[in-house]
Amino acid sequence: MLKPDKLSLNIPATTKPRVVIIGGGFGGINLARKLSDKNFQVVMFDRQNYHGFWPLLYQVATAGLEPDSIAEPLRKMFGGDEYEDFYFRLVKVTNINPIARTVETVVGDLAFDFLVIATGTKINYFGNEQIKKYGFPLKQIPHALNLRSQLLQCFEQASMTTDPEAQQSLLNFVIVGGGPTGVETAGALAEMRKHILPSDYPGVDFTKMNIYLVEGMDRVLPPMSPEASQKTYKYLNEMGIIIKLSTLVEGYDGETAILKGGEQIKTNTLIWAAGVSGAVIGGLPEECVERGRYLVNEFNQVVGYDNIFAIGDVAMMKTPEFPKGHPGVAQPAIQQGKLLAKNLKRIIKKEPLEPFKYYDKGSLAIIGRNRAVADLPNNMHLGGFFAWVIWLFVHIMYLIGFRNKLVVLSNWVYKFFTYENSTRLIIRPYVRKGDRVSQSFINKYGGD
Ligand SMILES: Cc1cc2nc3c(=O)[nH]c(=O)nc-3n(C[C@H](O)[C@H](O)[C@H](O)COP(=O)(O)OP(=O)(O)OC[C@H]3O[C@@H](n4cnc5c(N)ncnc54)[C@H](O)[C@@H]3O)c2cc1C
Repeated sequence: MLKPDKLSLNIPATTKPRVVIIGGGFGGINLARKLSDKNFQVVMFDRQNYHGFWPLLYQVATAGLEPDSIAEPLRKMFGGDEYEDFYFRLVKVTNINPIARTVETVVGDLAFDFLVIATGTKINYFGNEQIKKYGFPLKQIPHALNLRSQLLQCFEQASMTTDPEAQQSLLNFVIVGGGPTGVETAGALAEMRKHILPSDYPGVDFTKMNIYLVEGMDRVLPPMSPEASQKTYKYLNEMGIIIKLSTLVEGYDGETAILKGGEQIKTNTLIWAAGVSGAVIGGLPEECVERGRYLVNEFNQVVGYDNIFAIGDVAMMKTPEFPKGHPGVAQPAIQQGKLLAKNLKRIIKKEPLEPFKYYDKGSLAIIGRNRAVADLPNNMHLGGFFAWVIWLFVHIMYLIGFRNKLVVLSNWVYKFFTYENSTRLIIRPYVRKGDRVSQSFINKYGGD
């Protein structure tokens, strides 16, 4: 491979206004799809070459889906004739220079007329370096593959040890964070414990496998309604998950998780699903950023700039309804991306801009087979089978790519009848002492 100094961005000069989009996530792709070649040159930067469908990431981590089926290559999405003046570059943007109107990358700088920051979030360990070092995050595909291998290696080792303490530690799983990712991972693990592991590992007594779900707030699924939280609590309990509410994890040294109040749990696997903060890039003044997100006005313009925008998770648009910004879910990013495309066209036509108004389509979480919860518009709350069907339908609908829809659907149908999690392969993207996620892994795959 060539070193960065042998590369350049290689973007042709243009007479059209150049829109630079940092990030091909939900916000970035919905913006780029609606920008027309006639009016703009569009350049998208992403540090990964695919758009990830993160709501199904936990299924990759628990061997339910292969990673390729929850991601779509960005070059494939924007490869057709429709996108002749679109350029994708696989590179991380390291700095923004608002005065020179350029973005900086390791292979060179690029001037922009309009800049859209759609970088999403990074993992927030709340300053706990120990958990950062030893915990297993679940934010990107390499994390999910690493966690999948870890889980399966724990089961393999549990079948080969005669030391009861060591075996218990291998069979204890601590999931930190009772939001959708934590709940869905816990549910998927409980289903594996019931339907798959006893036949895969006949020598291991899986009644000893403990799944702990630790949440700092006083209910699971804090972003959803109290009704959804109550139902989820009940389902998790029925599935044998040990729930610890109003509890913080204070430390983890790779062997013992220490909970606030002193309780200790011996475990080889602590899954960190407890927090994210905006993936802010350096270069803009400090007053543009509040609590890790760019402050934007109702047109998604970063405060103080009329040609720099932020959309999605990294944007904080304060409104009377959302005084701390919109929720960090896919819909605000999708809707802001689509509206910004319209507004950029309005800017070049010198027309007035349309302010953003969030349409809340509801929230969903799945706990297991026939068990899901749904908060729908008009204060409707569903649980159980109907919510489960809605969850399946919505996720297939929003998944990008026909092939992905087909693969995921066929996997789910197959699983429904056979109870199989079919991708139970141990393939670690890297191996290091102790087989743990390492700083080099984080640096390489961007596990921040
Ligand atoms: C595990 C998980 C489960 C989730 N489950 C749900 C769910 O069930 N429902 C729901 O609505 N939402 C869910 N979310 C949240 C949802 O995925 C986000 O709200 C949504 O992705 C936000 O879109 P975005 O465009 O702002 O950012 P993202 O989709 O995260 O995209 C950001 C992109 O920017 C790129 N990037 C970041 N920094 C740089 C840089 N410096 N240079 C170049 N590229 C960069 C990243 O590689 C990424 O491709 C989940 C998130 C996670 C992590």
